[in-house]
Amino acid sequence: MLLSEQMSKSQTYFEKACKVIPGGVTAGIKFFPPHPILMERGQGSKLYDVDGNEYIDYLLCYGALIAGHGHQQVFEAVVRQMQEAGTTIFGTPHRMETVMAEKLIDLYPGIEMVRYTNSGLEATLLSIRMAMAYTGKGKLAKFEGHYHGGYDQVLLSVNPDTDEAGPSDRPHVVPESKGIPDYYVENTIILPFNDLEATEAILRTHQSEVAAVILEPIQGGFIPAESAFLKGLRAITEELGILLIFDEVKTGFRISLGGAQQAYGVTPDLTALGKVLGGGFPVGAVGGKEEIMMVSAPRDGKDILTAGAAKSGKAEVLFHSGTYNGHPTILAAGLATIGILEEEGAMEQLFARTQSLRQGLEDVYRQHGITMQTVGMGSIFNIILTDQPIRNYRDMNQADNALRKKIDYELLKLGIYTKPLNRYSMAVVHTEADIAKTLEAHHEAIRRVRR
Ligand code: PMP
Repeated sequence: MLLSEQMSKSQTYFEKACKVIPGGVTAGIKFFPPHPILMERGQGSKLYDVDGNEYIDYLLCYGALIAGHGHQQVFEAVVRQMQEAGTTIFGTPHRMETVMAEKLIDLYPGIEMVRYTNSGLEATLLSIRMAMAYTGKGKLAKFEGHYHGGYDQVLLSVNPDTDEAGPSDRPHVVPESKGIPDYYVENTIILPFNDLEATEAILRTHQSEVAAVILEPIQGGFIPAESAFLKGLRAITEELGILLIFDEVKTGFRISLGGAQQAYGVTPDLTALGKVLGGGFPVGAVGGKEEIMMVSAPRDGKDILTAGAAKSGKAEVLFHSGTYNGHPTILAAGLATIGILEEEGAMEQLFARTQSLRQGLEDVYRQHGITMQTVGMGSIFNIILTDQPIRNYRDMNQADNALRKKIDYELLKLGIYTKPLNRYSMAVVHTEADIAKTLEAHHEAIRRVRR
């Protein structure tokens, strides 16, 4: 079945892809039925598919492209870096690693030192290992509905079927993929987001075993932690000797230049970054308190290959490596992107445009008599078809997602791109004209689903 007559090449190319790539997609989340739309070109706020259709892009590579597609300053920085360096990567330490680290230390209250990784996934993974190495404890506490990357340790209770997920104030651990060893189910504690009382009770019970609590300070990038909840969580973790890790892969540079931690005035022990940091290239970073970060420093010239850990069975150092860590070309793209965001008024305009789109959408749905709210902060929001408060993962089930999905499919045909049911991320290049066109498309999409 075809999504639309206008998208016949997408279907043809997707069918070809399915013969050589399982399910035709390189990440499970990139699929939606009957077939995803294959893109060929991007420019500014727009994407163009293989059939030549134009879309205003609100997916923005899951939030990574805050400067939009092909921003000239990012392109120039990448080319300049490669030309000056005469290579794509040195494979040795280089100066830009320090320049970016200093920038992150300047912007993020919780960052005193930095290590780089190649993705957001690797950043959360490293932050958890650091927390375990530093505290000497072996369990992790995470929140229901929170995503930290697709690996065994955290691919638990991200999008659980609520029948399996247990009581809301004592959620069960639900593996989200085949192939996750029981070990992780047994050594992970699931917490209820925005429920401080229940979170505190669970953490007190497991205090001696839990190395860290990891969370998205804004779940999925759009459900904000309540301020009292986040402050309370900081106080409890500090009291109990549990490290607090903010996964700011999505919220970094998007809620404020210094992420959610700056916006809330709550300082975590460790922070995971990614997405915007790479200016559209794969990157991640962990930052945090010096004392904790130093667990990853080679000691006395010892790394895993010289420490003899494998022989004695007792590691002396925390191992962290990666062929491409601190990639100079990628850091150049990231620094250029941060530079764009630091231009006078850039963040203010981004937030104002986001607010104007949210307000406009709320008006459109009201005019059509559809119960709806936008939920979000900074430059990310979601459209939720319910008037009930949205405070956590389970609240999302109250929304009319079936209607939202129908509208989203019509929007694709009308040139508004986000994956059906996905959140909206804004870029500094979205214009007033884009917003006006988006609002008109929503009007038309609603008319069509009602026909
Ligand atoms: N944490 C959060 C909050 C994320 O949104 C994501 C990506 N969606 C990740 C971690 C994983 O990042 P990556 O896809 O770069 O591995």
